[in-house]
Amino acid sequence: MATPDAGTRKRKADNTPEGETKKFKSNYSGVITVSVGSDNIEFTVHQDLICDRSPFFKAACSRNWTEAKERRINLPDQNPKAIKIYFEWAYSQRQDLGDLARAVIKSEVPQLRAEQMSNRSWREETFIILRDLWVLADYLGDNVFKNITMDSLIDERNAGRIVHNKAIVHESFERTRLGSQLQTWIADRLLTVLSPDDPIRFADDWPLSVALVLLSRLLVKKGRLDKEEGLLLSRKCDYHEHADGAESCDQRT
Ligand SMILES: [Zn+2]
Repeated sequence: MATPDAGTRKRKADNTPEGETKKFKSNYSGVITVSVGSDNIEFTVHQDLICDRSPFFKAACSRNWTEAKERRINLPDQNPKAIKIYFEWAYSQRQDLGDLARAVIKSEVPQLRAEQMSNRSWREETFIILRDLWVLADYLGDNVFKNITMDSLIDERNAGRIVHNKAIVHESFERTRLGSQLQTWIADRLLTVLSPDDPIRFADDWPLSVALVLLSRLLVKKGRLDKEEGLLLSRKCDYHEHADGAESCDQRT
């Protein structure tokens, strides 16, 4: 596969990622090490590539922080699988995120366990990785990638290739801020199967954060129905981050 291997453990700083760089024109100002997750899995990546994409990385590299001096950034709360995909995507910007997620699961799950995993487990694992990609993009401030990840979640779900259970929903809400686009999207999907006639039950059946967003989305949905705005909550842009108050990606300059 012609994708860069940005995810090798303990890679030395002089052994920089190579491969698909047609879209990325590096001035090779240097590489930095990004240490991810509770196991401190290390990735080496071109500094100018990620600083160009992410306000978080730009700030970390430019300020007089310890991180900038040591050329090392720690992301203890992020998923190493998501970082691996993010860096691979950043170099080429061509791969399908769902396919990348499944390739990462395949490469990291032992053969025997992979054979025993049910179809549902695969779809849940894929959901978790795409969810963590969105969490990562949100944290890094890479809004373009955040919207691309959201589109992948929507497309994968529409194709029946990802699925979540109650525990995953709960975890997803704990990993994101209240009312975020990801929470909104999950709540809207749940509302298509929950009975909207009995919203009091939301609080019995779900943690408070989930119940709150469900209720708030129910009100939005009802408001749109009252205004006869047609098909509800189905545009991808409803779940995007747009700059400067734009309502859709079409209004981007
Ligand atoms: Zn949009």
